[in-house]
Amino acid sequence: MAQIDDLPPLREVIRAHNLDARKALGQNFLLDLNLTSRIARSAGDLSNVTVLEVGPGPGGLTRALLAAGARKVVAIEKDQRCLPALEEISSYYAGRLDVIEADALTIDPREITEGPIKIVANLPYNVGTQLLLNWLTVEDWPPYWESLTLMFQKEVGQRIVADPKSKAYGRLGVLANWRCYTDILFDLSPKAFTPPPKVTSAVVQLYPREAPLPCPLKALETVTAAAFGQRRKMLRASLKALQPDAGARIEAAGLKPTARAEEIDVAGFVALAHAFS
Ligand code: SAM
Repeated sequence: MAQIDDLPPLREVIRAHNLDARKALGQNFLLDLNLTSRIARSAGDLSNVTVLEVGPGPGGLTRALLAAGARKVVAIEKDQRCLPALEEISSYYAGRLDVIEADALTIDPREITEGPIKIVANLPYNVGTQLLLNWLTVEDWPPYWESLTLMFQKEVGQRIVADPKSKAYGRLGVLANWRCYTDILFDLSPKAFTPPPKVTSAVVQLYPREAPLPCPLKALETVTAAAFGQRRKMLRASLKALQPDAGARIEAAGLKPTARAEEIDVAGFVALAHAFS
């Protein structure tokens, strides 16, 4: 098997530190060095950025990021049991890995990093979407991060890159594609993980658009939540709870009140956000 450093193989690390995977923490570990290295390489040049990794676990992807030349990795891990294994990596790559024991949902990455950052992670499935929404809905744009290279369940990946009129198109796709260029880079079979999850995973990449259409963020969140919350209904019905004169506002946005959410593209939702703000 490929060797990226002189640290013990990951299976040995897991055994030595009794890191039996816990479902409640979304623990499906990626032990194949070819795959962890492929994800690290996908994030591009890491020599001038801090990499923020959420959920390093036993440290497979962490090691790949450091071996790929990351200037600095800051890793947030909720499971205390993983800390000794991560400490070994930190000693090996002296000064280049900081590990923070915390729930990533409660942390503002700007408070624990300096300079430009790229976020790279094999995300825990139970909080992955919320973390992405947190990173996408920051007030200032362009955001504090240069790119996101993230592993999700494939179904979530498809929702992130979805086009209008597709089954996967929804709120997540509108918010992601309003502000970012999105792409699925490659899929990973359940067999790549220990233990194997039930579904295929996908690595998704997001780069901030330089100039997304100007839009009131809160209104976009509200309108997309209402419209896709009742996606089979016509907009005049699904948006009525937001404003009694929903029909007139939809027309003011240049759209048909009889249209359904999945027919409206990102520019249409931006127009709706203005009309309902
Ligand atoms: N990066 C490792 C890999 O690729 O093998 C582990 C990935 S595993 C899918 C998700 C990791 O996220 C686990 O180590 C888990 O303990 C951690 N985790 C779960 N919830 C978390 C949270 N809210 N904040 C930080 N880490 C979390």
